[in-house]
Amino acid sequence: MAVNENLRTPIVSVMGHVDHGKTTLLDMIRGSAVAEGEAGAITQHIGATEVPIENIVTKCGDPSLKDRFIVPGLLFIDTPGHHAFTSLRSRGGALADLAIVIVDINEGFMPQTIESLHILKRFKTPFVVVANKIDRIHGWNPNKNSSFLASYNKQSERVKTDLDNKFYDIVGELYNLGFNSERFDRVGDFQRNIGVIPISAVTGEGISDVLMILLGLAQKFLEGSLHYTAKSPGIGTVLEVKEEKGLGTTIDTILYDGTIKKGDIIVVGSLGDPIQTKIRALLKPRPLSEIKAEEKFQQVAEVTAAVGVKISAPNLEGALAGAPVRVVSPETIDAITAEVKSEIADVQIDTDSVG
Ligand code: GDP
Repeated sequence: MAVNENLRTPIVSVMGHVDHGKTTLLDMIRGSAVAEGEAGAITQHIGATEVPIENIVTKCGDPSLKDRFIVPGLLFIDTPGHHAFTSLRSRGGALADLAIVIVDINEGFMPQTIESLHILKRFKTPFVVVANKIDRIHGWNPNKNSSFLASYNKQSERVKTDLDNKFYDIVGELYNLGFNSERFDRVGDFQRNIGVIPISAVTGEGISDVLMILLGLAQKFLEGSLHYTAKSPGIGTVLEVKEEKGLGTTIDTILYDGTIKKGDIIVVGSLGDPIQTKIRALLKPRPLSEIKAEEKFQQVAEVTAAVGVKISAPNLEGALAGAPVRVVSPETIDAITAEVKSEIADVQIDTDSVG
């Protein structure tokens, strides 16, 4: 088996309590992938980072593993923490194909950890739990970028016991919330058990394990939902509504199906009637090497899923983070506008009832 051309990159969201390490983990995934270099460069998207399969298997020390996987890589989204997204966070759960729930192993579960788990359960999103900050365990001897097991086996018995105790507190908390879980290397059936991976987002220990387990989950659970048609009209979700100098209001969008082009008419969810507008520009981040202060973005004519892109268009002021973005034609505009409107209404009822 090898990468299947008809499958798009799975979208992965990192969720968890504030300060438990979401940003550091994403930076580490980005940074280490950059450092790995040659085998397929990572791509920085708007609001997301794409790590190609070559990088992941190289990082795991066995490039031949590539042939075992059918997805082209993983697209990590930078889940924004601001209020608009928080109130529609359940949409974030639905947007992602896979998720990482991060928990500080020394602090255990906090309200946002629990909330994340509820959302994932509701949307039946496959996920892993990472128990972060193992380097803070007293006496831990770091082994930079090592796999978890290789590093664990080098620790003293006292440190191992300390980690095991904290680790099983997390397994216990997951059990209380209705999830059976085990350390990732002991999980026989990911359908029945959640894999928990001890990591350090600072030393990189366990990161390769996280990437491999995510690929395994994509392989096992997502093949049916990752098929896409490059030529079909684009479908995406608003990640963030942003004011940009010289561009006005823009929407950072994750496109998960089809293609979106400059000049396309789109329908975007808002609190009132959906917005109908025409795309003025599609923008991607400029490569790091070329960044000039006043030109953060470069225009592209079209993009195909899965991708993160900034859309500039008139009348986007009322756009809602978490809402759908759909490319329409004169034939489909009325029906799709009605669909978007009812989707937003559903989400609002949902979030109201969740509280
Ligand atoms: P976020 O709010 O979930 O995005 O958390 P951050 O990534 O901003 O991390 C919060 C703090 O914890 C920062 O000071 C990080 O440097 C620190 N931190 C995150 N991961 C680790 C880790 O694995 N080990 C240690 N020692 N510190 C960490």
